[in-house]
Amino acid sequence: MRILQATYGDLLRREEWRTKRRAILQRDGHACRNCGARNRLQVHHRQYHRCQRTGHKLAPWCYNDRYLVTLCDDCHHNGHHIHRVPRYII
Ligand SMILES: [Zn+2]
Ligand SMILES: [Zn+2]
Repeated sequence: MRILQATYGDLLRREEWRTKRRAILQRDGHACRNCGARNRLQVHHRQYHRCQRTGHKLAPWCYNDRYLVTLCDDCHHNGHHIHRVPRYII
């Protein structure tokens, strides 16, 4: 599948991710789940998954909503600085 060879940044510009991102922002009431900020919001993956069969990383919009969380830019960057996102083979 060609799409999975795109860079992660390319994937985040795709319509599929925009749609997923919108749904998560709506679920979280357009506020950072950590500090409540309402601007510069991003959607963070709590885990990254890789498919055992194909070896490919899951596309960012293919995750169950429970693995996605709205964070502001600051909390998102701090979070990534402190914790490494756990990676699982599925
Ligand atoms: Zn925040
Ligand atoms: Zn993140």
